[in-house]
Amino acid sequence: MVEIQPLDIADPIRTQAILRRYGFQFKKSLGQNFLTNKAVLNGILDAADLQPTDLVVEIGPGIGSLTEQLARRVKQVVAVEIDERLLPILADTLAPYNNIEVVHQDILKTSLAELTANYPDHGAIKVVANLPYYITTPIMFSLINGEVQPDVLVLMMQKEVAQRITANSGNKHYGSLSIDVQTQMTAEIAQIVPRTSFVPQPNVDSAVLVLQRYQHSPYQIDHPEMFSTIVKSSFQQRRKSLQNNLANLFGKDKREQITQIITELDLPAQVRAEQLPIQKFIDLSNACFTTFTSKRSK
Ligand code: SAM
Repeated sequence: MVEIQPLDIADPIRTQAILRRYGFQFKKSLGQNFLTNKAVLNGILDAADLQPTDLVVEIGPGIGSLTEQLARRVKQVVAVEIDERLLPILADTLAPYNNIEVVHQDILKTSLAELTANYPDHGAIKVVANLPYYITTPIMFSLINGEVQPDVLVLMMQKEVAQRITANSGNKHYGSLSIDVQTQMTAEIAQIVPRTSFVPQPNVDSAVLVLQRYQHSPYQIDHPEMFSTIVKSSFQQRRKSLQNNLANLFGKDKREQITQIITELDLPAQVRAEQLPIQKFIDLSNACFTTFTSKRSK
């Protein structure tokens, strides 16, 4: 006799059946847009290059559509969900799997160190998530900068945010967000995801972003505080020249020194921040550090 397999949770018919059975009402304030497109789901799984030894942290499992697929492919999944109404649903939908821990927590109030502490024996640590859009960047930075750092992050987010993160100099989306991320991890868009892939449909399209830790970072930042202050100030008024933005930062009386630094870096006098590759920002911050903070300049 052929055994009838239940449909995957992500299947639109099964998703609707689960939502109806529990009378679940979406909360817009929690960014609840559930994925019901199997092709997109497979794209996420491929992008994560999942291995049987992986320890995966998922943020916001919802009713478990992605969680289930992860559990079939990796050693252990830890899924962090803030909405307690989803806990009984997850207990039901994920019952067949013994390698999933659902943690009822706000992801912003916990850390990868805490979430992974119970699982010392594993291969890579990966974070895979269809993120709640309202907190995409705080979540991403808390993961990148935490004490335990993931090897890979595969994150579904609003398309425009992914475009800003992956942009290079010369691109209109390039800015401090691109630099803050790309100095720490490689960033690539794996797929663009139409809004029709979710219930309820969000007002924007999405993208799956893949961040990987550098094996050998191409960037050596000697003066991180100066670097981040300069990057932030340089993009404060994008249309203004770099020179003007730096004069606002260091003082109008430093204009001459600023012009000299820009010339020595082989940059055009009226260059704008969005034209500067990351390495030039590093060179710029080194030069500004020497000129404006060493005793020599006082
Ligand atoms: N993973 C599911 C899917 O792909 O269908 C749901 C994704 S939905 C975009 C975002 C999920 O994150 C929701 O389940 C929501 O309740 C949860 N969430 C929102 N804010 C959260 C937070 N601060 N910490 C943990 N989970 C959160």
